[in-house]
Amino acid sequence: MANLGYLQLTRNCYQRCRFCSNPPTGVDLTEAEMRGMIDELAEMGYDGVILTGGEPSLSALLFPALAYAAERGLYSRMITNGQLLADKEFFARCVDAGLRHVHMSLHSYRPEVHDFITKYPRAWETLVTALGHVPALGITADINTVINVYNADHLHETVMWLVDRFPFIRHFVWNNMDPDGNRAEENPDCIPRHHEFQVSLELAMDYLHRTGRTFRAERVPLCFMPRFAWASTETRKIIKEEERCIRFLDQKGFVHQVEFLHGKGEACDHCRWDPICAGMYSMAKTYDERELSPQFEDLTPVMRAVLGEEPAPALVERIQARRGRRSPTEQPPPAQRAAAWARAW
Ligand code: SF4
Repeated sequence: MANLGYLQLTRNCYQRCRFCSNPPTGVDLTEAEMRGMIDELAEMGYDGVILTGGEPSLSALLFPALAYAAERGLYSRMITNGQLLADKEFFARCVDAGLRHVHMSLHSYRPEVHDFITKYPRAWETLVTALGHVPALGITADINTVINVYNADHLHETVMWLVDRFPFIRHFVWNNMDPDGNRAEENPDCIPRHHEFQVSLELAMDYLHRTGRTFRAERVPLCFMPRFAWASTETRKIIKEEERCIRFLDQKGFVHQVEFLHGKGEACDHCRWDPICAGMYSMAKTYDERELSPQFEDLTPVMRAVLGEEPAPALVERIQARRGRRSPTEQPPPAQRAAAWARAW
């Protein structure tokens, strides 16, 4: 996988997704900042840029960013809700300006669920219209889905429906929702427990694997996707010793992420996959470490599956040396974990 940098062009958006982790901040990127970030990615040897937001297609910088990325030799993708791309002429202009790939954010194949989640009337219908334009425009499209309470039981039905209706879609990405701050705080009803999506995610992954498609899941501990551990975004980054850059339009600013570790629980201390697993996001805060369970299989087959070849002994040694490593920023302190253990189960 190529190294791709994420660039938030704007935080504006028509939709008001209940779990949005990047809602409006009133801050917009300037053209000079946009060019500076693209220069930085090019100088770091990155292969491409993913324009994101908010909704990047709403930004006046969309076309300048596509043009400048092309000028600097970077491949351009966009994460989008598809609202403006339903207008085929606008979509075609984006492609003419250098857009090569879109990640469309569809959260359910059921219109009423997608529209409820996004709090935008006809969001589903517009997005599906935009998806329908993709083959004629000669680009590719993936689907991004945020896992939450309202779609957790039919993730597999959503992928089956999409594959049936849009067979050109070859890649699917699930992000378990970020429950900290932002919109999620206003909508805690959206936050799933891991066991609520485990079965449907397994069925979805199994179906895609059998039908020759690819997929990734982020913020999902490996014990909730053990058969497809190689598809964890964080695990792949750990094994491939990759990094990623994200330019946020909030206090986080420019983030050069080289560590992919969340919280680790008691189960992780006894788990053979500890070195290749990022653990549980927001552990002992929102998510409960009592949901975790240790894995007792060797981790080498997962490394082999990620790399597509036998891992070099030196790499296996470096990865195994990660055992017991805990994030200095994400690992909750013992008192916080004890308080979480004391909560009703
Ligand atoms: S027990 Fe911990 S290390 Fe093991 S798979 Fe689960 S989250 Fe990962």
